[in-house]
Amino acid sequence: MTVSVAIIGTGPAGFYTADALIKKGVDCTIDLIDRLPTPYGLIRFGVAPDHQTTKKVSRAFEKTALSDACRFFGNVEVGRDVTLAELREMYDAVVLAVGAGHDRLAGIPGEDKKGVIGSATFVGWYNAHPDMRDLDPDLDTPSVVVIGNGNVAIDIARVLVKTREEMADSDLPEYATAAIEASPIKDVYMMGRRGPIEAKFTNVELREMGELKNAVPLVDPAQLPADVGDLDNLRDQRLKEKNLATLKEFTKFKPADAAKHVHFGFYAQPVEILGGDHVEGLRLEKTKVENGRAMGTGEFFEIECGLVIPAVGYRSLPVADVPFDEEKSVVVHDDGRVAPGLYAVGWVKRGPSGVISTNRPDGAKAAEHIAEDCGAGGKPGRTALSAHLEGRGVRIVTFEDWKKIESAEIAAAEGPAPRRKFETLTEILNVLGH
Ligand code: NAP
Repeated sequence: MTVSVAIIGTGPAGFYTADALIKKGVDCTIDLIDRLPTPYGLIRFGVAPDHQTTKKVSRAFEKTALSDACRFFGNVEVGRDVTLAELREMYDAVVLAVGAGHDRLAGIPGEDKKGVIGSATFVGWYNAHPDMRDLDPDLDTPSVVVIGNGNVAIDIARVLVKTREEMADSDLPEYATAAIEASPIKDVYMMGRRGPIEAKFTNVELREMGELKNAVPLVDPAQLPADVGDLDNLRDQRLKEKNLATLKEFTKFKPADAAKHVHFGFYAQPVEILGGDHVEGLRLEKTKVENGRAMGTGEFFEIECGLVIPAVGYRSLPVADVPFDEEKSVVVHDDGRVAPGLYAVGWVKRGPSGVISTNRPDGAKAAEHIAEDCGAGGKPGRTALSAHLEGRGVRIVTFEDWKKIESAEIAAAEGPAPRRKFETLTEILNVLGH
């Protein structure tokens, strides 16, 4: 008998789980379910459009999708087309790999004003996520504040100041390219509540900021410590030393060097978004770092801006009928086991941290649990799901369909762009003749 596995979500964590099941030699069928007609989740909609090398990991995921054990069930929304309870009835194992695709805000007054856009929404917009395509952000402002010192903050700052030419070999959609090009943005402030040593961005991403055509990074040398000090973790120590060296290097840049500037601000926590209906500025409190924590000093200042993007991490949404830890924004689990036959992997298990391959061990762990818990299986899985969806008139997008969509996107690309992404579900389904 064969173990039937359904994986909900086809981002990195979902694919690493499928891959681990195959490599482990578990006799199983694996159904990869996604509410969108396109696979790869964060790779398609989270990784920055100008980081095409990172997106190439999808080639390995494609091999997994094409293996005999796997089927892609795109355009199938759990909760709408089939419930989690129904899936658990149909399958021996169900894996939640739904990620953390939602905004987390800084939790300060004024975040409901127009002109405050969470990082998940903004990143989704410039990555042509069908849910965010119509965001139409108001970029008619000379200055923007991005709250946070992580890689998402740096991605957003970079995308906002790069030129059309610099983005030519990316898959930034034309509507976003045009909006950014037309915007008068000159200054992007990336504000960290702690210091340069505590900043979360990685060095390759930081260095990129010194290589832009029309923008320079600006760093106040007074905010840079002489050295990193002694950290417990050698890898961390090296990364921090590299970052500090890069930031020191950046102090050579002056505002007159370029039309646009990315200001690296440290030791400042956001306190309030200012303005009427619309954002007019951000009030911050200067901090000092004590025992690794940002402590307010009682000294405040303001940055005038028309757009604030809190890039302070992402958030998972609770999954219906599954215990959820609101504070950590993860499902409650024991080493990835959520309930009998139900598992969690990736960001909905661990929270939004790490790089793409950080999800690989989650997949391996889930495969181990499934092999241990599910014996020889016995539930019908795929045949039951297919019949259920057919009964409901759901238009399943298969992997073959996805390859048609992908080919059409590649064919529509101009110049060095790798693809021109379809922007709406209707456009995508039209390619398939529906
Ligand atoms: P992140 O790395 O956790 O960074 C979040 C930033 O927001 C930190 O600087 C954090 O400061 C700050 N922050 C959190 N709460 C705050 C608050 N209330 N007020 C002010 N600041 C606050 O998260 P991320 O940038 O969203 O990235 C998510 C994950 O994706 C990370 O693991 C990241 O490395 C990864 N990623 C990687 C790449 C890449 O490899 N190129 C690209 C994008 C994303 P504290 O440190 O003080 O908490």
